[in-house]
Amino acid sequence: MGRILDGKAVAQEVKEEVTAAVSLLDYQPGLATVLVGDDPASHTYVRGKRRDAEQVGIRSVHHELDASMSQQDLVRLVAELNKDESVDGILVQLPLPNDLDGEATVEAIDPVKDVDGLHPFNLGKLMLGRPGLRPCTPTGVVRILDHYEIATAGARAVIVGRSFLVGRPLAMILSERGVDSTVSVAHSRTEDLVSVTREADILIAAAGSPGLIGRDHVKPGATVIDVGVNRTDEGLVGDVDFDAVVDVAGAVTPVPGGVGPMTRAMLLVNTLRAAESRRAVS
Ligand code: NAD
Repeated sequence: MGRILDGKAVAQEVKEEVTAAVSLLDYQPGLATVLVGDDPASHTYVRGKRRDAEQVGIRSVHHELDASMSQQDLVRLVAELNKDESVDGILVQLPLPNDLDGEATVEAIDPVKDVDGLHPFNLGKLMLGRPGLRPCTPTGVVRILDHYEIATAGARAVIVGRSFLVGRPLAMILSERGVDSTVSVAHSRTEDLVSVTREADILIAAAGSPGLIGRDHVKPGATVIDVGVNRTDEGLVGDVDFDAVVDVAGAVTPVPGGVGPMTRAMLLVNTLRAAESRRAVS
């Protein structure tokens, strides 16, 4: 049976590191969360992020807005938060309701406060291999691999999913110097997915399709990272059929308790980094 990679425990370790680093600062970093509308999942996510922030000593400032607000007012709020000296990180919870434009809103965030790492400036820096704020889920995945000393150099990594939120930035990070995996990105138009995923020493599922990855998709002994979070009648499930895969994989992350807690923990790391770099120059 494969080893179960405990994202919750690794996330706890990351939180302890952030707590220790924050306690050495002569200021309190601030994270502003912006939540528009009444989507229950978004409310749950933001509540969790605010609680995490407070636990590690980061001040959380919350803005909750009605779904009927205009794009102009949303961008105006972001501009105010950009100027607010006490705010180091700005997180606008996506997706936005109605006709509000998530892309334009993220682009309105000052890149030095873009703790989700989704501003084109930060994604561009990632592309160039330069330091910057990086998206939380991909960095969380790499941190789990690191923690469990799963060798990435020379390993064949296959990512299922090509979104700008997970698949693409993760492909950049896994293939960069120092991490050194050989990366393939599969997607909804990939033919014969099984033959592609069976090549993987490290298989990352980020498709949003419950149980997509079964036993046949996995090379014996491979590490399987399940990014998927799918709400089904049976509750929260990943993209990996855990029970089928756990026997063949060398290691596997569960859902819940795998990548989810890591994503939240890396947001705290980004907020700390944003505070340190912004306040170092001001
Ligand atoms: P997305 O819908 O933007 O992208 C999904 C990608 O998967 C697309 O590129 C698509 O081509 C590919 N895909 C879909 N079905 C496929 C199939 N049958 N075969 C091959 N490829 C397929 O989604 P996203 O935002 O990247 O999120 C992916 C999943 O990860 C979702 O379940 C989401 O909830 C989850 N997620 C989890 C975390 C976390 O912290 N755990 C963070 C972000 C996203």
